[in-house]
Amino acid sequence: MADWVAAVVAGVALIVAICAAIYSKQAADAAKDSAKSAQQVAKAELGRDHRDLAPNPEWVRFDTVQNERTGRTNQFIFLTPPRTYLTHADILHATGSRLPISFSPNNQVEGGTEGRAFIANSPESLPAEVEIRFFPPTEDAPGERWGCPCGVPAIGDHADRGHWIMRVKVDDMLSLGLY
Ligand SMILES: [Zn+2]
Repeated sequence: MADWVAAVVAGVALIVAICAAIYSKQAADAAKDSAKSAQQVAKAELGRDHRDLAPNPEWVRFDTVQNERTGRTNQFIFLTPPRTYLTHADILHATGSRLPISFSPNNQVEGGTEGRAFIANSPESLPAEVEIRFFPPTEDAPGERWGCPCGVPAIGDHADRGHWIMRVKVDDMLSLGLY
């Protein structure tokens, strides 16, 4: 091979190598960018899922139930979630006292069914607020099983602050005519 041919071949090879390096840098940047945006999308999805799974005050209503034995009109809060939740709840009185209430014997409320909890035995003794702490269902829950993809661990007992927390003002419900 003549020297000039070897020089041209080497030159072309060098140019090809430079182009390949530029191309792979661009490809790597593009891959990094798309991985980054995929990560951002996934993060946003997780956030949205957590919010989408959050409880809605529209699932709650208040009503009275006549106790046949005592003849008294008892006040209840009803909860009808679209999917099964583990719940822990308290009634909060204006005096600051807090008493646990329960929507079902195992605190799970099956999706599409109505759980109810006693809040007062007369309209005069209604609490100021009801606090309901929601969790994804545990293994012994009836109905479909699901989890929140946000990954926040939950102990799920009565002292747990709740995966979601909802406070319902009883007065608001009364004034809205939802009672
Ligand atoms: Zn979550």
